[in-house]
Amino acid sequence: MKVQCVLCDEFHTLNPHSLQAKRLRNRWIQMFLCKTCDERIRRNTNARHATGKFHLYNEDVQKDELI
Ligand SMILES: [Zn+2]
Repeated sequence: MKVQCVLCDEFHTLNPHSLQAKRLRNRWIQMFLCKTCDERIRRNTNARHATGKFHLYNEDVQKDELI
């Protein structure tokens, strides 16, 4: 099964029996990310987390500390 990465437009061959291939066929997931792009996004997201601009679940903790 041939799939195209939505970010780098590279074509990859996917094992048609893999869970990811089944998900794509059944449209549970609409797009395919290759491993390279997936890892790059994960790294960038983690780096952004590290800058402290993201306040996800830490926000409540900080509020509690102020009171
Ligand atoms: Zn890619």
